[in-house]
Amino acid sequence: MLDTLRRIVQEVNNAPDIRSALDLMAQRVRDAMGTEVCSIYLRDNDRERYVLMASEGLKREAVGRVSLGLSEGLVGQVGQREEPINLEDAFAHPKFHYLAETGEDPFHAFLGVPVMHHGEVLGVLVVQQRDARRFDQSEEAFLVTISAQLSAVIAHAHASGILFEQLETRERQASMYDGQPGSSGAAIGIAKLLFPAADLSAVPDREAEDISAEIARLDDALVRVRKEIRDLAERAKASLGAEEQALFDVYLRMLDRHALPAEVVAKIREGHWAQGALRIVVDAHVHNFEMMDDPYLRERAADVRDLGRRVLAQLQSYNRRELEFPDHCILLGEDISAPMLMELPQERIAGIVTTRGSRNSHMAIVARAMSIPTVVGVANLPLKKLDGKELIVDGFRGRVVANATPELKHQFEELIAEEQSLLEGLEKLRDLPAETEDGVSVQLQVNTGLMTDINRSLERGAQGVGLYRSEIPFMIRDRFPSEEEQRVLYREQLQAFAPLPVTMRTLDVGGDKSLSYFPIEEDNPFLGWRGIRVTLDHPEIFIVQVRAMLKAAAGLNNLRIMLPMITNVFEAEEAQHLIHRAWLEVREENVDVEMPPVGVMIEVPATIYQARALAQRVDFLSVGTNDLTQYLLAVDRNNRQVSDLYNSFHPSVLHALLHVVEQAHAEGKPVSVCGEMAGDPASALLLMAMGFDALSMNASNLLRVKAAVRQVNMGFLRRLLNEVLAMDNGEVITAYMDLQLTKVGLGDLIRHHAPAAA
Ligand code: PEP
Ligand code: MG
Repeated sequence: MLDTLRRIVQEVNNAPDIRSALDLMAQRVRDAMGTEVCSIYLRDNDRERYVLMASEGLKREAVGRVSLGLSEGLVGQVGQREEPINLEDAFAHPKFHYLAETGEDPFHAFLGVPVMHHGEVLGVLVVQQRDARRFDQSEEAFLVTISAQLSAVIAHAHASGILFEQLETRERQASMYDGQPGSSGAAIGIAKLLFPAADLSAVPDREAEDISAEIARLDDALVRVRKEIRDLAERAKASLGAEEQALFDVYLRMLDRHALPAEVVAKIREGHWAQGALRIVVDAHVHNFEMMDDPYLRERAADVRDLGRRVLAQLQSYNRRELEFPDHCILLGEDISAPMLMELPQERIAGIVTTRGSRNSHMAIVARAMSIPTVVGVANLPLKKLDGKELIVDGFRGRVVANATPELKHQFEELIAEEQSLLEGLEKLRDLPAETEDGVSVQLQVNTGLMTDINRSLERGAQGVGLYRSEIPFMIRDRFPSEEEQRVLYREQLQAFAPLPVTMRTLDVGGDKSLSYFPIEEDNPFLGWRGIRVTLDHPEIFIVQVRAMLKAAAGLNNLRIMLPMITNVFEAEEAQHLIHRAWLEVREENVDVEMPPVGVMIEVPATIYQARALAQRVDFLSVGTNDLTQYLLAVDRNNRQVSDLYNSFHPSVLHALLHVVEQAHAEGKPVSVCGEMAGDPASALLLMAMGFDALSMNASNLLRVKAAVRQVNMGFLRRLLNEVLAMDNGEVITAYMDLQLTKVGLGDLIRHHAPAAA
């Protein structure tokens, strides 16, 4: 035995590289022990997985591809317990995790030993055999010894970092690319790269031979592009509301004779051919936009670039409709504009991924309205390499996975199927009350912004709108909408939900939401000129908006007005005063409308301790937990770097919320939550236990929350709340909630996030 050992160690030490060393190890151990399989799994610390790195007896193609989580399967058990596991029949063990792609079906006997170096588990050495039998003491001792002897070789490769680098060239497993969530949900599909229909950067400089012919060519192209955009707007009506047509108006205005085209004509007159003149003008505009500090304005560069391509495509007579789209395709592009999205066959689009853009780009707004899982701003995505490849879009976490391992793909397939069946199962709850088993109810409302949200909300049985984000229609325009334009779109919201209440929040721009026609440039925008601070400085904007809301509510009287980013009581008083003035004005114009209830958002931490003073002055409070969490914890809600710290179950957040409910109720005023927390079933249950009267959320979460509410009783919820309020750690609270709710059968409802990285 000792001889065999010495020979193997020598051979392995002499191997030319680590891969051959591992292969040799597997071969020699299998031969020496007379088993049918010997495999080596090594720990990849970056991925926190055990990767199958060599095997004699399992399928060759599984090597380098198959992996297990650190606590997954028997391999994970060996690593976790740091001791051998010797089983007569692995299949009978509860931890056994069947790996189909290794072809391990026939092997029953299992012996795994950890590969340890300086107290650290580097991997697991496994032998397997067809017959169900226990490996004997001497076999176990042999494997432990050889593992200890060989661990130095593996440790060296580990330390030099070559181990998994080499694997990279053998087609490594899943590649993950991080971006920002644009629209939640998960999808799997074949990537379809949308490369520019016509490449402006490839247009050479050329002199115009005939200036008037070039101008005529341009005019012709413009006529066709205008028609193209109008046709798109028409088609969009079916999937987006009439209001979202504003997106297309922005385009059409840019194409107005006196706008962009006038500059191109001027360049042609200077002697450039039409295509070159177009390139020069578009480049200059794109450059200007890209130089802007404001992220929202930088995004407008995408619109100009897209328009430029459209005009060029017409100048070059390119026919875009030749592109073919497979079913379940994942659109891939640097920038994908909202109109571009609208001209594609929507029933085939499973997901969207872009390398530029942010949550606030027009395309992301539209993707959310259409419920297409989307990830934006994936800066390091190798676009060209991924065309035609299978991709996983994880819109929950803002991540894209290429080259997924079969296990990871399977996990996502299960997630998607679960989501689907959960949703189907939930539909029957539409008309049932959001009421606990013991008859306590809570109002479930929706957050809206686009017209498209209306149908989705009504289909899910929403009890009104708890937050209408009025800035969204402002964001998809290129100028302030007039009072009448606003009235029309507010009327549509109010009418659709009447007699249910619609809470319209006054313009909340600033922070990460700004308007291209009203730039706000600041070093620290989240602590700057935001929400009510802007509109109180611009009463002309505020009053026009409030007048439009009041006129829209004529005869319906289901309007409630809500003020964002209130810090002090005088802001609430000043805004109330302006609202009252607007009401008197419209009444004088013979508009038959009652003075609506006015409420404030509690999202600046200072207002937690002014909740009572505010409640004395206004008709209702609504907590914006997105901003409240961000400001209480000093964690930017959009910054991935600190996203681990962003936790609404932080004890400070929970105690703040409870305090707000108590203060509002002490004044007899209703209080709701309209941040993301309201739409998360676990959080929603806690909020209900605290006594919040209403929860307002994205329509897509409503039935899930309702299902959770209907499966619990208040005694249980109050006990749970008291328990978590006594805890001092947000992570522990999160885990505890998970455990308790899973125990009462809510596991499926609360686990709607994507599987962990593989
Ligand atoms: C919030 O801050 O929780 C909120 C609802 O408002 P918004 O997300 O629009 O800032
Ligand atoms: Mg907010």
